[in-house]
Amino acid sequence: MWICPKCGVSVEPSFDVCWSCGTTADGVEDPTFVTADNADPIEDHPPGDLRNSPPKSTLEPEWPAPPFELVECYRPRDSAEAKFLVDRLAENGIMAVANGTHMGNMEYVLPLFSPRLEVRAEDYARARGLVDEFELRKKARRADVEAF
Ligand SMILES: [Zn+2]
Repeated sequence: MWICPKCGVSVEPSFDVCWSCGTTADGVEDPTFVTADNADPIEDHPPGDLRNSPPKSTLEPEWPAPPFELVECYRPRDSAEAKFLVDRLAENGIMAVANGTHMGNMEYVLPLFSPRLEVRAEDYARARGLVDEFELRKKARRADVEAF
């Protein structure tokens, strides 16, 4: 155990420099030493790697200024599925509407007919990919249920 000549803390003999300020036992300061307080925060998720980021469910994607073209992307089984898909797409930054109505009214309107899920034309390919994934998972789940 040695005492740091600069800040006076006790340092384990296995350390060549003071753990607190980076000074050696001889009093030589390391100009590159960065204390934990001054170090840059370590990013858990490098920017750009969106797949590992937590879902931004509170962050509503913004509609672009009109005009924008909507294309039909999927026909959900019912309003619950439509709402689920609208939410999943929103998490991926894709705006989707079901039948062009506000989701709030859907429960009352949609039992009468199959909703249509629409997305912007430029998002169509990405939306289709996500919806296909959803359908595959749904089929797998159904297969599980039928196996019992
Ligand atoms: Zn020190």
